[in-house]
Amino acid sequence: MANETGILVLGEVAEGKLTTFSTELLGAARRLEGAGGAVSCALLGSAVESAAQDAIAFGADKVYVVEDPALADYSTDGWVQAMQKVVGEANPAIIIIGQSNIGRDVAPRLAFRLNTTACMDCLELSVSDGKLSATRGSWGGNARSVHSFNTMPQIATVRVKSQEPLERDESRKGEVVKVDAGLDPSSIRTKLLERKEVSAEGVRLEDAEVIVGGGRGIGSEEGFKVLEDLAGQLAGAVGATRAACDMGWRPVADQIGLTGKVVSPTLYIAVALSGASQHMAGCSGAKNIIAVNKDSEANIFKLSRFGIVEDYKKVMPALLEAIKKLG
Ligand SMILES: Cc1cc2nc3c(=O)[nH]c(=O)nc-3n(C[C@H](O)[C@H](O)[C@H](O)COP(=O)(O)OP(=O)(O)OC[C@H]3O[C@@H](n4cnc5c(N)ncnc54)[C@H](O)[C@@H]3O)c2cc1C
Repeated sequence: MANETGILVLGEVAEGKLTTFSTELLGAARRLEGAGGAVSCALLGSAVESAAQDAIAFGADKVYVVEDPALADYSTDGWVQAMQKVVGEANPAIIIIGQSNIGRDVAPRLAFRLNTTACMDCLELSVSDGKLSATRGSWGGNARSVHSFNTMPQIATVRVKSQEPLERDESRKGEVVKVDAGLDPSSIRTKLLERKEVSAEGVRLEDAEVIVGGGRGIGSEEGFKVLEDLAGQLAGAVGATRAACDMGWRPVADQIGLTGKVVSPTLYIAVALSGASQHMAGCSGAKNIIAVNKDSEANIFKLSRFGIVEDYKKVMPALLEAIKKLG
């Protein structure tokens, strides 16, 4: 295709509403001054039209709605086909997708179908002369690399909480365009057999402003109790390294890192974990890191704003008490 213009955001809908993460992506798209053209949003699913007004209120000029029973449950085949159809209609120069479970799956496949490339897990986006520059963490978050594109459309996935949403503006006007993806259900090769609710109390790890993360040095499942208490006191969530999850001390859903969740809290309290690059790949977007480790040479101290060299069993109860007193 030629004459690509504007930005297309792939929005995600949960319980009939646009997700907060999607509002961040729309905010990023709106701030890409110089990109030219409209900001549009694709919503794919079986009952997603209700979220179109959300997308407009958060910055979309146009919302492409693809409703199809075959899209009721997420599938790679269904979403990539539907997204390809929307791209055909919108002909965008830039496509912004969240670095979510869906985005990680869709973006590279969509790029392959469109004969272009996707830059994954970006932290910053900018546009100069209509060309997108995408900044992402490299070497486990220890360095940053800036990428540009030789092919169109330019696809970037963006890390959660790396972008600010716009204020919701109910007075914004936009157009809603229904798209028939013409999906053949037999082309969807995977089927959802069962859905299991993960019972979780408190704040979701992905949404938490404060995360208390524990590693192998915690030593046991019970050892995490003090981390849970601190997280509860700070209205935060508990995360863990792969080592701690592999030991069975925390559920896999708590794992942060290259093969776990990517989080960007305002504060990450890293307790008895070494700061391996694979772990930091999931939390290098944290705005502040405080480390507690008994080894003063631990790598985590190089990446932290504050560090406490001490046994966590001494530090954490004292920290908890002090924070409780602050109310
Ligand atoms: C392909 C691949 C993918 C991976 N993906 C991930 C991933 O997604 N997430 C992840 O976390 N890891 C991942 N890993 C594993 C990663 O390389 C590290 O092995 C892991 O992060 C180490 O976990 P840790 O810091 O808890 O343990 P360790 O490296 O063993 O560190 C434990 C730390 O606890 C400290 N300590 C011990 N006792 C105490 C105490 N009482 N008080 C205070 N400090 C104490 C020690 O000084 C030490 O620094 C991956 C590895 C590979 C190869």
